[in-house]
Amino acid sequence: TTALVWLRRDLRLFDHHAMYEALKNADQVILAFVFDTTILKDLPKQDRRVEFIWEALKEIKTELRQYNTDLVIRHGDPRTEIPALVEQFDISAVYCNRDYEPQAIERDGYVAASLKEKGVAFNTYKDQVIFEQDQILSQSGGMYSVFSPYKRTWLATLRDQDVAAYPVNRVIKQLKPLKPQYFPSLKELGFAKTNLTQLKVPLGMSGGEKLFEDFKRRINDYKDARDFPAIKGVSYLSAHIRFGTVSIRELVRFAHEHGGIGAETWLSELIWREFYSQILWHRPDVVEHTFKPEFDQLPFPNHPELFAAWCAGETGYPIVDAAMRQLTQTGYMHNRLRMITASFLVKDLLVDWRWGEQFFAEHLLDYDLASNNGGWQWAASTGCDAQPYNRIFNPVLQSEKFDANGQFIRRYVPELAELPDVAIHSPWAFSANERRGALFVSFLEQTDYFPPIVDHAEQRAAALALYQNH
Ligand code: FAD
Repeated sequence: TTALVWLRRDLRLFDHHAMYEALKNADQVILAFVFDTTILKDLPKQDRRVEFIWEALKEIKTELRQYNTDLVIRHGDPRTEIPALVEQFDISAVYCNRDYEPQAIERDGYVAASLKEKGVAFNTYKDQVIFEQDQILSQSGGMYSVFSPYKRTWLATLRDQDVAAYPVNRVIKQLKPLKPQYFPSLKELGFAKTNLTQLKVPLGMSGGEKLFEDFKRRINDYKDARDFPAIKGVSYLSAHIRFGTVSIRELVRFAHEHGGIGAETWLSELIWREFYSQILWHRPDVVEHTFKPEFDQLPFPNHPELFAAWCAGETGYPIVDAAMRQLTQTGYMHNRLRMITASFLVKDLLVDWRWGEQFFAEHLLDYDLASNNGGWQWAASTGCDAQPYNRIFNPVLQSEKFDANGQFIRRYVPELAELPDVAIHSPWAFSANERRGALFVSFLEQTDYFPPIVDHAEQRAAALALYQNH
């Protein structure tokens, strides 16, 4: 018998649940990936994610060629491509790892039904999380909507077997011999190269491993360093976790065994990811609506010019502008800055969180529906276990606290690079202050940096009124 393993967000050749099961159950195995035209058609011509995937597949292909086999690639709609591959290679069962996003669930349901008509099984496995769906429930049997008790139960449930690897390296020789297969160029897929390789983001399985090895040496400092965007305090693994070029079991196993406050704090972040994943699974309506229904119809004024200034990094608030430019220039934004910019959009610019969620979805290399939606609803105070609506970040105080000497701001807002530390967080506040010296006065006369587009104190009051009175 020949099985097909359909790769999706699990682009690796080690510790892979679906591949492990296929290799165990079938005589021969073929690995395939479909560039899904129903997803690709809505993306801009330059999209770092498509290139990230493409590079990861190239590495897989190179490795498979050593075993006299290859990765089978198609460019089309998986609803027809997977059944077509089943015919072409006389496949008896299709194996894949589960995806919990509503559109993916619908797509997989369609594929499963059409394979069933041919008498071909569609076998799915848990791989991208440690606990999925309703594996972690409260004592009353319902979903958790508060993180702390969810985390406690998650940790109490964890057993060694939950993080044990599904080894495939030893059996990979069982892959069906194939002559070299078609590998489309980015251009053939309808895309152009981005700056991804210039950014020196380590790519593919080897890149994920390199980042993880580097982070292991820093993990003890994670708790103290994670909130400061100018320093290397976090793991930068999010895109690799998103596309499965690393194994979540390996990451959790390491953090759990390593112990200590740094590793515990990092593990907690990985649990946040699972928390949001199960929220999306239980409450797919959060894609369109607020988790808390009472906030679904907040009357945001939604001024397009304020939104445009936020997107462009031209709000006049240096920390917000630096963060937004980091996002559009690199596809990454530090977590502290995601919280600051999201709060600023909703509670200072009074723009619906869904607009910001969409903009992040277009630009984040690590974009993940569940985490992005969860993060936005947290910042907008509309989500489960969210920031209370009357706790509004002051962007200047956040900037002073988490980028005290303006190192991060200077990196992404070069117009401000020469400003003294004391002025960098709110340049406007000093414009009339002649005591600050000649350098500063001449700077303000010459720079084309923007005056702040809104006044924080006024907007804070307006936001409170909007939430209170709706
Ligand atoms: P680390 O600090 O090293 O954390 C390790 C991993 O834990 C991350 O890679 C991620 O998988 C997970 N994680 C960390 N924090 C969170 C969190 N708050 N929620 C869920 N998972 C978390 N994360 C995404 O992966 N994709 C998104 O689209 C996304 N959108 C966000 C939008 C907003 C408004 C906010 C506030 C947060 C969002 N996050 C998202 C969560 C978090 O900002 C990123 O996961 C993190 O910045 C990625 O960097 P890292 O890998 O270096 O993180």
